[in-house]
Amino acid sequence: MKILVINSGSSSLKYQLFNMETENVLAKGLIQRIGIDGSYLEYESGEGEEIVIEKDIPNHKVGIELLIETLISKKHGVLANMDEIEAVGHRIVHGGEAFAESTIIDDQAIKKLEDVADLAPLHNPPNIMGIKVCQELMPDKPQVGVFDTAFHQSMPEKAYIYALPYEYYEKYGVRRYGFHGTSHGYVAKRAAKMMDQDLSELKIITCHLGNGASVAAVKNGKSVDTSMGLTPLEGLVMGTRCGDIDPAIIPFLLEKEDMTPSEIDNILNKESGLLGVSGVSSDSRDVEDAAAEGNHQAEIALELFDYRVKKYIGAYTAAMGGVDAIVFTAGIGENSIDTRANILSGLEYLGVELDKEANDCRGKEVLISTDDSKVKAMIVPTNEELVIAKDTMELVK
Ligand code: AMP
Repeated sequence: MKILVINSGSSSLKYQLFNMETENVLAKGLIQRIGIDGSYLEYESGEGEEIVIEKDIPNHKVGIELLIETLISKKHGVLANMDEIEAVGHRIVHGGEAFAESTIIDDQAIKKLEDVADLAPLHNPPNIMGIKVCQELMPDKPQVGVFDTAFHQSMPEKAYIYALPYEYYEKYGVRRYGFHGTSHGYVAKRAAKMMDQDLSELKIITCHLGNGASVAAVKNGKSVDTSMGLTPLEGLVMGTRCGDIDPAIIPFLLEKEDMTPSEIDNILNKESGLLGVSGVSSDSRDVEDAAAEGNHQAEIALELFDYRVKKYIGAYTAAMGGVDAIVFTAGIGENSIDTRANILSGLEYLGVELDKEANDCRGKEVLISTDDSKVKAMIVPTNEELVIAKDTMELVK
């Protein structure tokens, strides 16, 4: 069975084609600058052949048509025809309270998605557009939605209700939803496998540390808390997002800097985090390089990043009444040796003992705690696309 996975953004679209018998990626690619001058499609076949097609791509429909053309092209393609594709799985950022699991997209699902679109105005409309174009171009293929928020729908009320007047929850759905759910769910499952134990008996803290970053408390296989909230802005320090701040800073700055709400929104989402504090870059590698050269702001940015993760680990250990494993994933979690070491240092009292040699490694599924560490620590490379493909396959079977 072959499944196409699509992650449709406003001006870009990522895709992967899976052979589900082997779980291998047959082809993958990225369409960039949709609706902007200089648009192009990058394509890589499973064998590593890479091509770039520069072409005017004024909208998602033209982009997805080009993607299909490439997949079945005699020269570079990997499919004889489109009938080989069984279904399409779509990454959807926000499912609100309407979607606690992946679902086949029908008219009713589209309507529900449109109802929650204002919770993620930058992400959900292009996600919906990707689905509609695929429905139009491949009317006989089932379309499946997989939601970043779904895994966290198991959070108890005490974890998701904000201490604001309750009417805002009732009227607008203002509550904590959490994101990166496919990643947290996947790495928690892999961690249980590595420990040779049942996920349903474990307390796991999953740290998804990438440009966007979040921590989740996964108790008996279910998310009971996570650091992102109504939007992905809450929680950890991220590449350009501030994470947790005193909300009173917002009216204070609005007045002092004479800013508009959209200007402050831009500052909090695009100009804060590692970039804002270091003044160097949103990319942790650049910040690490600057810190190594003695740049104080870069040093502080990294310390702040690690310290915030450490605090969440402490909080979630308390929330779950203990912890059996701490998992690191995503760009920084999988690759930054120092970040993992700094986060875990000082947590020996919880029973975590880092194996420095094992931690000296990047992007591999591996235990990084010592053999006799009571709490296990591990790196698990995330694979959100594979989860989307698997959920899609399960639903269409
Ligand atoms: P992601 O959003 O998961 O793609 O992660 C992006 C972040 O991962 C960026 O801050 C990168 O600097 C970081 N990252 C990626 N590769 C490495 C690496 N080899 N070493 C350290 N950080 C890395």
